[in-house]
Amino acid sequence: MTTDFDKLIAVLEKRKSKGSDEYHFRPCSVDGVFCYVVLYFKFSVLTVESVHIVCKFSSEGQPYQQPYVLYYRKYKTFKDALELIQKITTNYKILNGDLESPENYDELKLEECVIPYSENERCSVCFENTTDTTICDHPICFNCREKCILKKQINCPICRNANVLQFYNNTLQLFNNRDSTELHRIFVNNPYKYLAPDDVDMPDDASVSSSEDEEEDEEEDEPIPVQEPIHIDVDPPINEAIVLVNDIMNDFDQI
Ligand SMILES: [Zn+2]
Ligand SMILES: [Zn+2]
Repeated sequence: MTTDFDKLIAVLEKRKSKGSDEYHFRPCSVDGVFCYVVLYFKFSVLTVESVHIVCKFSSEGQPYQQPYVLYYRKYKTFKDALELIQKITTNYKILNGDLESPENYDELKLEECVIPYSENERCSVCFENTTDTTICDHPICFNCREKCILKKQINCPICRNANVLQFYNNTLQLFNNRDSTELHRIFVNNPYKYLAPDDVDMPDDASVSSSEDEEEDEEEDEPIPVQEPIHIDVDPPINEAIVLVNDIMNDFDQI
């Protein structure tokens, strides 16, 4: 008897044989964070990528930003990959920006009795231990970051630095995106996933006149490019940065 699981494997094999580079599963919540699970056929890599949170880094002096990858793994067969996806989406938990199996998660939590976190490593929202920070170096765990973003509160909860929560940072500077040559190869092939900040505001930019009024008026409705954070002391209007990131991801989905 052919199960739906087998049928899905057949679908993936058909897509791959027809020349598709990847398969995007529908966005889903993994441990409370919205993610895209993606299979990259050419490199046999499975990734779990945040829908809302990106990371910035530089490579050869050039600044880039990409969807933040919470997890990636090489797979041997589609069957292995699909079984792993089942486990990840039902059991895995987020710790310090990584998705961990329940066993790994419990072990890492136990380690805290011998290697405690410092006073500066407590999420400023839920007070759980974390090495995740805003790009202004204030601690916030991944789950609280996502919750704030969903509530459209994207300023730093400590210093109110504007529009920073969608940019992932970690005090140890441990980013899967930056450390993995596999991910680099995947993303370099895909302009939507390997954006220099100058490219991010492309969708609307063409229709906007070339004049650039900065700091003229806070109530300007122009989309704010996803670039370096802007320091504003008062609460700014909720900006379109997240919407912009989502639009980019949606565009990507439709390819
Ligand atoms: Zn938290
Ligand atoms: Zn801050």
